[in-house]
Amino acid sequence: MENTLVYACRVQDREVLRRSSSGGAFTAISDAFLEKGCAVLCARYNYEEHRTEVKLALTKEERDASSGSMYMQSYALDSWKEALSWLKENPDRKLMFAGLGCQAAGFMQFMKMNGMSERIFTVDIICHGAPSPEIWAEYARSLEKGGKLSKLNFRNKKTGWSKSVGTVCRGGEEISISQYRRIYTDRYTIRPSCHSCPYTRMDRDTDITIGDFWHMEESMPDFVDEMGTSLVLIHTERGKELFDEIKENMDYRESNTTDCWQLNLQEPTKPSVIRHKFWRDYKKHGIDYVMEHYGSVTFLHRARRKIQKILP
Ligand SMILES: Cc1cc2nc3c(=O)[nH]c(=O)nc-3n(C[C@H](O)[C@H](O)[C@H](O)COP(=O)(O)OP(=O)(O)OC[C@H]3O[C@@H](n4cnc5c(N)ncnc54)[C@H](O)[C@@H]3O)c2cc1C
Repeated sequence: MENTLVYACRVQDREVLRRSSSGGAFTAISDAFLEKGCAVLCARYNYEEHRTEVKLALTKEERDASSGSMYMQSYALDSWKEALSWLKENPDRKLMFAGLGCQAAGFMQFMKMNGMSERIFTVDIICHGAPSPEIWAEYARSLEKGGKLSKLNFRNKKTGWSKSVGTVCRGGEEISISQYRRIYTDRYTIRPSCHSCPYTRMDRDTDITIGDFWHMEESMPDFVDEMGTSLVLIHTERGKELFDEIKENMDYRESNTTDCWQLNLQEPTKPSVIRHKFWRDYKKHGIDYVMEHYGSVTFLHRARRKIQKILP
């Protein structure tokens, strides 16, 4: 397609919207596949191993377990082979892939080599960078000393989408994981390859790109919803056909590539200047030390953020 189509949208089902990271575009798109007996390959959290794994979902229940952004690099494990076997066993069905840009490119290459690419629909996710899975697993194990973890939510919208907080339940009690979110957003744990990511562009090789529609209070203030809005970028004719099919289940507005702009649609996230110091401290002192020292908001940090907001 010559020009990327841009939409701001959110699912009408408020419960789906509440549990989704953005506006629920992933659920709306994958519903269209699952309802036709097609498969969805997406990421799911494993509470035993404390890691995110790519899995094949054939039902809405299995797919729902993939709702929410897990801020760590996910493991593909045997999922690509399982997807290939499923495609061979179901020659008249299609498969939707949802994952980060690098994962979508790798998966599509694998499917091309196996002559299946025509049956694959790809959805990639705008990405700030994938953090080290080791740091998350160490942090989760440290938290788990106080009780079993469940209901992990990196984007809990109880304080609204734009002010979302990270939470997990430990022995039935909700606790904060804001320290982990802070070291991620402050760019200490992002994998080195993400800092030269070739997929941080507006035009992509996937059918659809999804993410957060930030700053919409400037371009469409009457469409703002504190439970979140998805940004949907459509790159192909079949992406457009699919969006036409699902849009009746969503509230949506057409937009453009200027109003939806965010950094990772133009360039990769830059590494923190003290990244090496973080890793040196982690190797020397362990996870609890770096969470305390780098994950807590100090008075100085808060003051610097306030000044940055005031300055033009
Ligand atoms: C590491 C990471 C960084 C992100 N950075 C940005 C950003 O800078 N800007 C932005 O606009 N959006 C970013 N997002 C995307 C955003 O947070 C939402 O995931 C996206 O908008 C989909 O939300 P939703 O409401 O449509 O669906 P949801 O129901 O929340 O679906 C989440 C989707 O993300 C996939 N997913 C979750 N965790 C992972 C993972 N670790 N690896 C691969 N796939 C995963 C699931 O399979 C599912 O497809 C990021 C997501 C991740 C995982």
